[in-house]
Amino acid sequence: MVQNEEKRYTRLSRKHLLVVAGLIAVIGVVITAYSLFVVQLVGQEYRVPNTGSRNDGYIIQNLSGEQISTWLSWRLVDGTVLHVNVIGADKYPGKLDLIKDVLLSQKAIEVDNSLLHTGLQGTTSTYYVGWAGALAQASKDQTQFYIPDKLDVIESSSASGDITIMMTSEQSGDGYSGSTKSIADPSQHQILKSQIIIYGVDKLSDEQFKTILRHELGHAFGLAHASAPGDLMHATIQTDYPYISQCDINTIKSLYNGKEKSQVTC
Ligand SMILES: [Zn+2]
Repeated sequence: MVQNEEKRYTRLSRKHLLVVAGLIAVIGVVITAYSLFVVQLVGQEYRVPNTGSRNDGYIIQNLSGEQISTWLSWRLVDGTVLHVNVIGADKYPGKLDLIKDVLLSQKAIEVDNSLLHTGLQGTTSTYYVGWAGALAQASKDQTQFYIPDKLDVIESSSASGDITIMMTSEQSGDGYSGSTKSIADPSQHQILKSQIIIYGVDKLSDEQFKTILRHELGHAFGLAHASAPGDLMHATIQTDYPYISQCDINTIKSLYNGKEKSQVTC
């Protein structure tokens, strides 16, 4: 009788051991998964799931309206405010706040490089949500020409302002989600005015609208397209992290330092 009891205890404690071992294994898997997929991937919350590649139009015209191909930058007097005029903002309620965010935000975010396939998990890069923050960062080093980091948003039905933003619910004939036309003095490589149009506005989510505008503003400040497919300034916007990258900032810096190249290279 006593022997039987002992056997039962032994069997029970073996069972307990198995259960405990099983639990430890499960907890281990959960912790590993948590650290792999949650803890170390900094910036995952900034993901904007890409809903199809988006093309845009970017052209430069001289004063006679002829299309030209060159590198350009603004040549404002040091400290001058660059005015961005949103034409017809009241037609699309809520969009003005999104425009102000993309233009005026100083917010810098850290994103794990593995999420953009630019580096190892656990290493991060800084991105900017708004152009004011990116341009302020670019202005930290002295450049030959003034980088216009003082931005102001105005609302006027006239075409006043250095950069104009127009929104339309119509689709572009070329299938573009947005376009930027810069009027330039090619002899000076100087931008005189930049006109942005965002198409199909009422079909865009807030994040899609901001992504397209962020890209077009890159053109308006002088950037051409990026070689890296994962960059905000790639000809076809396809990244899930559509923010202003260090590559974009470096290209702005060199462009305003007189380097004759506006293509973003990483
Ligand atoms: Zn573009």
